[in-house]
Amino acid sequence: MQKKLIGIERGWWIVSLENRVWLPQGDLPLGTAESWSLQGLVAYVIGEWLGEVVWLVRHKMASDMYSPRRIAEQDPQLFQLVGRGVQLAEFYRSHRYCGYCGHEMQQTEHEWACLCHHCDERYYPQIAPCIIVGIRREDHILLAQHQRHRNGIHTVLAGFVEVGETLEETVHREVMEESGIKIRNLRYVTSQPWPFPHSLMMGFLADYESGDIEHDPVELISADWYRYDDLPLIPGPDTIARRLIEETVALCRQSCRQY
Ligand SMILES: [Zn+2]
Repeated sequence: MQKKLIGIERGWWIVSLENRVWLPQGDLPLGTAESWSLQGLVAYVIGEWLGEVVWLVRHKMASDMYSPRRIAEQDPQLFQLVGRGVQLAEFYRSHRYCGYCGHEMQQTEHEWACLCHHCDERYYPQIAPCIIVGIRREDHILLAQHQRHRNGIHTVLAGFVEVGETLEETVHREVMEESGIKIRNLRYVTSQPWPFPHSLMMGFLADYESGDIEHDPVELISADWYRYDDLPLIPGPDTIARRLIEETVALCRQSCRQY
């Protein structure tokens, strides 16, 4: 699984460290290891893209190290692979020593894990489950502006799953905490890995049940109902938030036709 590069290896190169990825001239490099001067570095195969092997090299280049967000804007599937590479690089960097006994750990050969030979503990990459939900009230959708992203974008509600909680419980709790309303008819839609730094977004749709909006000022700047044909600035395409908004808008349109 792990290989010291001699130069003839070919494929896409995810060179990553500290949540950054190497994008010379703005793109993910393709070609032989030699053509990008990667000989001598250690690499792992982590996937395939357009018929070529995808390699991960845990290394920091002197320049052109960027956030994987740059790839998200180019191609959603490639973004998923780059996200995997960036998260694995970060996992290995943060698991050099065993949390139980403090001894140095080894990477395992046949899976993405670290093993402590002293106490036999095995560690896997951490994934933080996160729910995101589009809420409809007749022909309106609930959209909020987040304190953490002051960019004018209005989006659906989201939050992290807590220890010992089901996904459904998380959705009901987050919606109540952030907006003060009750929802019903919760449906799972889709998921999206989100490597900032290691989330897995799980998208739902729901209907309004009761209550008046009272937004949580710590998390949100505002939260309000917006008619489906008069929306403020919303997230860009290829995000799970955008898909949930579009599906809610489609349901709003249907509900209008019924009246
Ligand atoms: Zn140990």
